[in-house]
Amino acid sequence: MDFALTQEHEMIREAARKFGEQEILPGLAERDRAHESDPAVLKKMGESGLLGVCIPEKYEGMGADYISLGLACEELERADSTARVVMSVHVGLQSMTLMQWATEEQKQRWLPDLASGRRIGGFGLTEPNAGSDAAHISTRAEKSGDHYILNGEKTWISLADYADQFLVVAVTDPTASTPTKGMSAFIVDRTTPGFSSRPLKGKLGVRAGNTGQIFFENCPIPAENLVGGEGNGFKIAMSALDHGRYTVAAGAVGIITACLDASVRYANDRKVGGEAIGRKQLVQQMIASMVQGREIGRLLYQKVGWMKNQGLRHTREVSLAKWNNCAAAFDAANKAVEIHGAYGFSDEFPVERHFRNSRGAMIYEGTHEIHTLMQAEYELGYRTDRPLDHSLPAWPFE
Ligand SMILES: Cc1cc2nc3c(=O)[nH]c(=O)nc-3n(C[C@H](O)[C@H](O)[C@H](O)COP(=O)(O)OP(=O)(O)OC[C@H]3O[C@@H](n4cnc5c(N)ncnc54)[C@H](O)[C@@H]3O)c2cc1C
Repeated sequence: MDFALTQEHEMIREAARKFGEQEILPGLAERDRAHESDPAVLKKMGESGLLGVCIPEKYEGMGADYISLGLACEELERADSTARVVMSVHVGLQSMTLMQWATEEQKQRWLPDLASGRRIGGFGLTEPNAGSDAAHISTRAEKSGDHYILNGEKTWISLADYADQFLVVAVTDPTASTPTKGMSAFIVDRTTPGFSSRPLKGKLGVRAGNTGQIFFENCPIPAENLVGGEGNGFKIAMSALDHGRYTVAAGAVGIITACLDASVRYANDRKVGGEAIGRKQLVQQMIASMVQGREIGRLLYQKVGWMKNQGLRHTREVSLAKWNNCAAAFDAANKAVEIHGAYGFSDEFPVERHFRNSRGAMIYEGTHEIHTLMQAEYELGYRTDRPLDHSLPAWPFE
């Protein structure tokens, strides 16, 4: 077993940290307060290479391993959740899912633009009446000649107003023996006639990021945009979540680190009765618990990164990492607010933003309850994973 990071890992971690400090944090508090996203950040992420971190060089990616993706997410979310959300949907949910399921011709068509950030990718699974219950989506794609006609609506879609293309899951066979066998996945270009989007307002967190609804009204989708064959849509969506959850689990460690750094600084500066509050045992208990969250969280996500590198299926392990790390991040942010006293209740200090952002991560990519159930079901023997017909390419890439 080797826990050491390579020189390349350290370089990517450092580059992502600098990106967070230089490109995300300036003006962030104002954007967050105003619920305003900055599309220039997306462009800069593309130029920095971060959007292609674990995409093979033959598709214009950096060709680094999956642990590098985790490290990048950790460092980006240390600044703010919005940039990590971009990594989750663009790299995790779309590019890596295409790496896993698309044909070589499709990979050549889509991956270079995604890896370089020339085009931005999103992911459309959730609907107004189907979130956790993704088996009962109702967006419909009907075959008509060499096209599918797409009708329906997706909600809570990250980058709804900015993504150039979405990986969308729709029902192609409503008569299938089980609903999950009647779904297919498509790449939907935002320029498709009948496509529209609308931003969601009034969010608790990820305020400097774009989240919205996307609508399909008789959208003609070319049959060559079908990914992974008809009837595989649900499987594709679930393997997309294996990648998205990994980025969320890694990012959660960044939130803990940010909260810990701010809390240590504050606990050493703030005096009560002439003594730094860091000297108080109850404050120390909170700091110690945050350290515990950071260290366990890192081990959990990096183990998943290692499994991805080996090309192993890791649905159970990534669910555990996402479930544990997001709860630990919310707990750390809550403790950080507590340590800051009334100042933690104000957006003058970043811990308030991390507190709101960390709550969202316990909802998306599987709620806290869904992961609790998954972990119990695996242990009780009610749920097992078979190897998939298509696996994510192991690293090093061919
Ligand atoms: C900021 C943000 C960004 C998002 N981005 C995307 C995106 O890019 N693409 C996308 O497709 N989706 C996205 N989502 C949607 C997200 O994945 C869903 O919100 C999530 O899956 C939960 O679905 P829901 O909101 O419909 O809640 P519901 O599924 O209705 O759940 C409501 C409550 O019921 C509980 N519950 C549900 N089912 C069960 C059960 N079987 N047993 C026990 N309890 C249960 C849940 O845990 C929860 O507490 C995003 C959400 C947010 C907040």
